[in-house]
Amino acid sequence: MINLTALRADTPTCETLAHFNNAGASLMPNPVYAAMTDHQALEQAVGGYEAQADAAPAIADFYAAFADMLNCDPFEIAFMESATKAWDAVFYSLPLVAGDRVLVHRSTYSSNYLALLQLARRKGLGIDFVPSDAHGQIDLESLPGLLTGRTKLILLTHCPSQSGLIQPAEAVGRFAKDYGLLYLLDACQSAGQMPLDVQAIGCDALTGTGRKFLRGPRGTGFLYMRRDLADRIEPTMVDLQSAEWLAQDRYILADGARRFEAWERNVAGQIALGQAVRYALDIGLDVIAGRVQPMAAELREALAAVPDVTVHDPGQQRSAIVTFSKQGVNPADAKRILRDQQINVSIVPRNWALLDAEERDLPDLIRASLHAYNSEDEITRLVSAVAGLS
Ligand SMILES: *Cc1c(COP(=O)(O)O)cnc(C)c1O
Repeated sequence: MINLTALRADTPTCETLAHFNNAGASLMPNPVYAAMTDHQALEQAVGGYEAQADAAPAIADFYAAFADMLNCDPFEIAFMESATKAWDAVFYSLPLVAGDRVLVHRSTYSSNYLALLQLARRKGLGIDFVPSDAHGQIDLESLPGLLTGRTKLILLTHCPSQSGLIQPAEAVGRFAKDYGLLYLLDACQSAGQMPLDVQAIGCDALTGTGRKFLRGPRGTGFLYMRRDLADRIEPTMVDLQSAEWLAQDRYILADGARRFEAWERNVAGQIALGQAVRYALDIGLDVIAGRVQPMAAELREALAAVPDVTVHDPGQQRSAIVTFSKQGVNPADAKRILRDQQINVSIVPRNWALLDAEERDLPDLIRASLHAYNSEDEITRLVSAVAGLS
């Protein structure tokens, strides 16, 4: 059971602000905020490098916390400055050559798709789209028929940022394994929102950000990469952190996922993100998922009953992200009007999810993404505020 009183006490703003932009940036709980500001205070007091040395146990716990959350080894984790940096670090470093083909679904995250387009042009890769099934998710049955002798990689966004869909990540993992494909999973919206077990999923690499459902600070992200894969990959860029300089003509790469890290980093952010993972694990990711998914379903139902409102979330299984539109209401105006009423939502312009928007014939959307600390009262406030939009 969730202790809502404690969760809300750790999130002081929620006394006045109904924050439904957890898929954009959630609110940091007090212990996470304190971990960040305490380290910044230490940096000011003793010096940045000295503070980093003093905080070695907390920094080490960043890797241990992610290893606990994802069921992997700490050496399979890297600290990155965002999910996109993590994704690009992996994607651009993969040993793909002209003629290789990549499988992708239209719900894939915009920046990941842009990177795919760029690399496909640069290297001469082929892109094959996996169609959607009747539920709007990746059509598992069509997968074997899409394989060619040159198919090397499958990309999946676990929970798209533009809809409530949860993709069947484990089934895709079984397919990738059966056919010897590399499998990259973007878990940016699922990390912190639901349990993630990389052994059960069977992905080769997984990326995420700190500020969304994990409730960490901005400017932080993480990478998981399977150890034996990481040890075979040469990162696109190297520095003093990712490699050790041995001689005039020689360096050796760091072990595991850490070869993708940069030397300079936001140490306070890294420590706070480790703390955020511990905070989520203390609540229980199954407990968080068990609270947000029924609440989101309730919100969808209530919104759908509002005149002129259409809810747009596909999927057999749905996340804490709720997307909708209202006839005659411009989403950007709606966001501003709701903000004046102390309700935060976000918007999804069509071209932030272009292929998905074209396939599903979507207008610009309003997005309400809720977390475990959101209350039933806040949902009621949101629904009546949406009813009042004209
Ligand atoms: C937000 C988001 C990203 C990018 O995260 P950044 O930390 O902003 O780079 C990637 N994938 C998905 C699904 C997202 O929602």
